[in-house]
Amino acid sequence: MYTTETATSIQNGIRSVEKRHHLVAELELLYYRRHELLTANSSFFSLPYTTFLDGFGLYRNSYHSLAGVYITPSSLPLELREKIHNIFVLMLGPFGSNETDISAALQPDCTRMDKGTTIKLLDGSGTKFVRMFCIAHHGDMPQQNKLAGTKSHKADHGCRGCLISKEEFGDLGIDTKAQGRYFFPMYQLRKDLVQIKSKTARDQFSQKVGINSDGPLMASCHPCLDPLYCTPHNPLHAECRICKYFQGCLVEAFGTTGEIAYQLAWEKMELPYKWGRPQNPISHKGSMSFSENARIACLNPFILMRLFNLPGDHFRLSVERELASLLTGTPLPNKTPR
Ligand SMILES: [Zn+2]
Repeated sequence: MYTTETATSIQNGIRSVEKRHHLVAELELLYYRRHELLTANSSFFSLPYTTFLDGFGLYRNSYHSLAGVYITPSSLPLELREKIHNIFVLMLGPFGSNETDISAALQPDCTRMDKGTTIKLLDGSGTKFVRMFCIAHHGDMPQQNKLAGTKSHKADHGCRGCLISKEEFGDLGIDTKAQGRYFFPMYQLRKDLVQIKSKTARDQFSQKVGINSDGPLMASCHPCLDPLYCTPHNPLHAECRICKYFQGCLVEAFGTTGEIAYQLAWEKMELPYKWGRPQNPISHKGSMSFSENARIACLNPFILMRLFNLPGDHFRLSVERELASLLTGTPLPNKTPR
């Protein structure tokens, strides 16, 4: 007996059963086959982990990007997972290497650990069979899309959760479950793509369905993971992006005099303990890093509150004095002109 349809919701009715997310166990059965799983060593240590893969610059002002792959044991409680000592560097890809090289280099060891291997215990108490497997990938948006095997988030069909087009992104009425990306339909699309001979036709097809021609990035390392379901969305980047837009609108609303007043206030603003001062939001308008946008968004309410809400406040008075001096060209007493 088998099912051909599954319920989406009361409003949206039913959809084909292939349009659902699969359990890792189902994909393990497909990959390793039932016999191998039934005859495998049943006594083992289970070490699930999550990976983080991203490019980074070694220095703040260096644009040469290196790629790092890190793993965190996911069996630890959140408090310990956040500790830097529990984040292990699996590999650093040298400058110039691409992610496909990294995936190919990691593949033999990752699949060996996934399947399980016998290790010698350091305390001399014997050996133990260990299975170490990835359960999810962390990362930012372009990286997660590469891991999921979809086009970039800026493409026409750039959502890795569904197949809707860029123009439909704001439409909350669209049934994204019915138009979702699921393992087997995507697997089939990828098989169809490989069979297209002409490169132009292949590019057109991959553009139309929003999948990249290289396939999911680490799929060969973690064959039992659904690449679409194990790449969760990253709320931090979405929020930092909103902070960036907010900062742009704020600076635009100020006008020239307001911008100078804001900059003066910015320079005077005291920062929380251990914070480095972010780049100047006026002179580096539009080119600040994500984390700096987030810090500025945290500081903005205090700057604006003190500039607009507290007449007579020492902070506001000193900004007003400096602004007047700048606009009229009269230097402040005990201060060299800017
Ligand atoms: Zn979507």
